[in-house]
Amino acid sequence: MKIITDERCTSYLRTGHPEHPRRVAATTAFLKTQTELPVIWAGPGENVSDEIILRAHAPEVLTRLARPEDFDEDTPFHENISTFARTSVAASLEALRTARNGENVFSLMRPPGHHATRTKSMGFCYLNNIAITTLEALATGAKRVAVLDFDVHHGNGTEDILLNQRGVEFFSIHEHPSYPHTGAENAGHNCFNYPVTPGTPRLTYRAKLAHALDDLRSYRPELIAVSAGFDAYVRDPLAEGSLLAEDFYWLGESLRKLGVPFFSLLEGGYSKDLPKLIFAYLKGVEGK
Ligand SMILES: [Zn+2]
Repeated sequence: MKIITDERCTSYLRTGHPEHPRRVAATTAFLKTQTELPVIWAGPGENVSDEIILRAHAPEVLTRLARPEDFDEDTPFHENISTFARTSVAASLEALRTARNGENVFSLMRPPGHHATRTKSMGFCYLNNIAITTLEALATGAKRVAVLDFDVHHGNGTEDILLNQRGVEFFSIHEHPSYPHTGAENAGHNCFNYPVTPGTPRLTYRAKLAHALDDLRSYRPELIAVSAGFDAYVRDPLAEGSLLAEDFYWLGESLRKLGVPFFSLLEGGYSKDLPKLIFAYLKGVEGK
């Protein structure tokens, strides 16, 4: 298992904000001490060009990153946030290259990306890592890419950017009604939403995940990009999900069994158990 991370992503914080550097720092520490799963550590690839980012975002998103004002009440400005966001994208692109090379890979970075829309940073997200990387995959030869988003919140930004994009289908399983209050229904010809009522029992939630995975399989993708959020966990403080660590194992295992190259990027997940949830998922991906 290759894990892509970079120390710089733990160097900024807003006091009291749940999207905290310890999410990555504690997970890195945990993965370095465990002995069950061999890990190859890697850094993000080279700096990302504006051209690659601007396939997904309007130019104003890049200029706004340099303006020292909070983006919204959830999404603070940080000094050098532009560099941090671009480094997270670089890690995502490195994950794509690694997956194409036939290796199992996880990008353990922040900031997350799936709420950032074409024109707006929001919801802890500045640049949409998964959408930028999916468009890069298409620009470099992929013909059928599936994007799976199992974060407990709807990947509204990813949907906004990939809506009706040829060569992509998007599958998002999320709590609804909940932030960001989108994703109640399918959108366009390629965005499929699987809303789950807050407080839904675990087995019902898992059946919804299985349904989405079945639909994804029917698309016959050649590559799968995964927005891996761990906030549908039963003890996550930001949502009312019901999943356990073994469900994240099952997700990783189910993806592996599809037999299609895939890469995963960290989105949400705010409980202190996050390192164990990611570990369970990675073990499923490796079939350990
Ligand atoms: Zn989330």
